[in-house]
Amino acid sequence: MKNIESVVKSNLCLGCGFCTFRGNYKMEYNHSKGLYLPKKTGDSNHLDWEICPAKGYTIKQTSAQLYTQNAQYSIDLGYINKQYVVSSKSERILQNASSGGIMTQIALFLLKEKIVDYVVVTKFIYSENGIKTKTFFTNDINEIFEAQGSKYCPVNMDYFISEIGKYKFHKFAFFGTPCQIAAIREIQRNDPHIAKNLLFTVGNFCGGVKNYNNIKKLAQRNKLDYENIKYFRFRGGGQPGSLLMVDKHGNSSQTNYPLYVGYTGYSKLLRCHLCVDATAELADISCGDAWLDSYMEDFRPWSVIISRNKKATEIINMLESQQKIIIREISKEEISKSQNQNLKSKKYRYLSRNNLYRFLGYKLPDFDGGYHNIDFPLKKEIKIYLIHKLKELLEKIGLYGFVRNIIKK
Ligand SMILES: Cc1cc2nc3c(=O)[nH]c(=O)nc-3n(C[C@H](O)[C@H](O)[C@H](O)COP(=O)(O)OP(=O)(O)OC[C@H]3O[C@@H](n4cnc5c(N)ncnc54)[C@H](O)[C@@H]3O)c2cc1C
Repeated sequence: MKNIESVVKSNLCLGCGFCTFRGNYKMEYNHSKGLYLPKKTGDSNHLDWEICPAKGYTIKQTSAQLYTQNAQYSIDLGYINKQYVVSSKSERILQNASSGGIMTQIALFLLKEKIVDYVVVTKFIYSENGIKTKTFFTNDINEIFEAQGSKYCPVNMDYFISEIGKYKFHKFAFFGTPCQIAAIREIQRNDPHIAKNLLFTVGNFCGGVKNYNNIKKLAQRNKLDYENIKYFRFRGGGQPGSLLMVDKHGNSSQTNYPLYVGYTGYSKLLRCHLCVDATAELADISCGDAWLDSYMEDFRPWSVIISRNKKATEIINMLESQQKIIIREISKEEISKSQNQNLKSKKYRYLSRNNLYRFLGYKLPDFDGGYHNIDFPLKKEIKIYLIHKLKELLEKIGLYGFVRNIIKK
């Protein structure tokens, strides 16, 4: 792969829209793929390609440049200055948070303390093209609340990118997925104003996303009118929260997370299957769910977080001293345990899965390390691959729901 077109052709595009940064691409929705894809509008250059996170990135080198000082490296979790389990003390934040509400709490804190002028967050919008997302600069508290909750779908950043010029002389913080953080780091490297004014990045741990057709199918499977959905969320309403959809006729459907993940046969995006970045290793603070019995059984929702430098740790400590959050101690090993499934997939199976995909003729993203040198049994990789493909096929021919019901009985 050597340009944006080859990323799209190889089905690796994440639909993130960062390649629109220099104005040489625009994003167009592709209904069959269920995501936005870039279309060339000018003479593309090397920078468009460098920014693209789907081609892979220098996760080891860049994280080392950013964080070696006062931080210890772990292949599983990246550079760590300090790790915690945290929960917001605000009832309003916890109500619609994915887990402990820490991402929203940090956003509000950075604005209140005037550390930044704006934060960049992502909310759902209800357009004539169905449910989509919008990423935007804001300093409005209500809009930050509106953006709460994990979006397990591709996020097209073209609106945010189009606004960067307007805001790049203001101090801002960026909230997003590991691949989005990688792209914004690349932009930061190439633009002195953004380098100076992007003061803080907060990433979520990430197990990948499915395309937008998955959302449509979830609505249909719950007998809701997709075109007329007026509210949608993947997470929120407690720990671990629930999917909630409400249509304009007043019908609604609620399913606990992660139960609904198997409701459709759609698999994660190909690029998400081939990812090595489980915890947003290039973000100053990374936040995930505390998948540990002692925290999951608690009435209070909790997040695990990693701060990667002193400045990030200071912010967490200030949040505690201002009584905005509760903090519990946790070891790195326990954080890894809480992310067992995702780490196994991204860090331990990385080599064997790549070998299989390469053998099958797939183009692969390029990372400079960040995974264990372990040979996971090929037989298991083939089995996992075939199960994904079978589910996708059943969904495509309209039999997934039927077969799933029979298996469940
Ligand atoms: C795609 C995805 C996959 C994830 N996979 C895992 C996982 O495997 N293991 C795990 O422990 N945790 C995972 N998480 C993280 C987890 O769901 C929560 O985001 C995290 O625990 C922080 O919760 P919170 O209550 O602090 O966030 P909230 O207070 O709910 O705030 C969430 C913030 O994240 C932003 N945001 C949400 N989704 C997106 C998106 N797709 N793109 C850009 N910004 C977004 C919102 O704008 C908001 O600012 C994933 C999150 C996402 C988005």
